[in-house]
Amino acid sequence: MSTATLNLLQGGVVAPPANPLSLPRPPPRKPSGNVSKAQVANLLSNPIYVGDYRWLGELYSGTHQPIVSRSLFDEVQRQRDGRSRHQQQKHTFAFRGLVRCGNCGCVVTAERKKGKYVYYHCTHARGDCDEKAVREEVLAEMLGEPLKRLRLSQVRAAWIAEELQADDKRCRQERAQERRRLKQEYQQIDSKLDHLYEDKLSGAISADFWKRKHEACVARLGMIREALAQDTDPAHKPTDAARILELSQKAYSLYLARKPEEQRELLEILLSNSLLTGGKVEAALRYPYDVIADGIEEEEELNRKGRPKSDARTVWLPRCNPHRTHLVSLDAAEVGAVERIEFLVASTAI
Ligand SMILES: [Zn+2]
Repeated sequence: MSTATLNLLQGGVVAPPANPLSLPRPPPRKPSGNVSKAQVANLLSNPIYVGDYRWLGELYSGTHQPIVSRSLFDEVQRQRDGRSRHQQQKHTFAFRGLVRCGNCGCVVTAERKKGKYVYYHCTHARGDCDEKAVREEVLAEMLGEPLKRLRLSQVRAAWIAEELQADDKRCRQERAQERRRLKQEYQQIDSKLDHLYEDKLSGAISADFWKRKHEACVARLGMIREALAQDTDPAHKPTDAARILELSQKAYSLYLARKPEEQRELLEILLSNSLLTGGKVEAALRYPYDVIADGIEEEEELNRKGRPKSDARTVWLPRCNPHRTHLVSLDAAEVGAVERIEFLVASTAI
């Protein structure tokens, strides 16, 4: 067994791939039009904007560029703390604002009844709504249901981690090769510019012809310089892929073992578009957990049909997308950055 596999099985870390998201990109989210108070609160307190991120209750430094200054972020937290202390004296409801009413689209809020039981119900902000209230315990149980889909075996998680590492190695090689090619092209264009200039001086080519060629060469040199400058190796954090795989093995048991406030944190990482409809919760797993859950189910289906174990490759390799290329171009560099941020956003509380 490789060191990587051993590390993973021992709960250690596996060096993530260059793009830990070597999974298909998620479809763009449809803007719902409304932003709930809870979403604004999460937005203001999410450390991802200052370069950090939270994972299962702990704070880690990210590798992405901060977009908010630390001092501004801290000031916002100070002001929010003052306010929330005031509010907390009333009540805290773990799942408030996490679910929408499937009947009318309003946020589902909470209240304590008879000083004892916490009930969640539609805010009725858009008028009368028939959606019934549910007890917190019942809601918590229903919200946990989709997490049962994440039952990746330890063996499969280790295998995927190894595939991703191998893919990372391939990508690095491709990148190095592309860098060499670009540097070579740069030198060739540079010397071509010298020759063009000599031809212009000797009258072998017209001033107009020289000008057009010169401009084209200079533009291409600029593109290459920019591409090379942007193609920095991502600073690796021993985190992303290993964390996703870890959570894909034990999301539900972690959920059961946590207090409601921590359960909410987990649900924000894992679920999207949670609706309360007819007293039942409908919720989808967030990317990339949805892709993994689909893979688990597809493989289980194959196993039921008694298909050979080698079919695992046909299930998982397209999902790990190991044959993608990391060509050094401006577009690819930008896509890489966006994917990374999407990943961080998808895997931390928004
Ligand atoms: Zn409603």
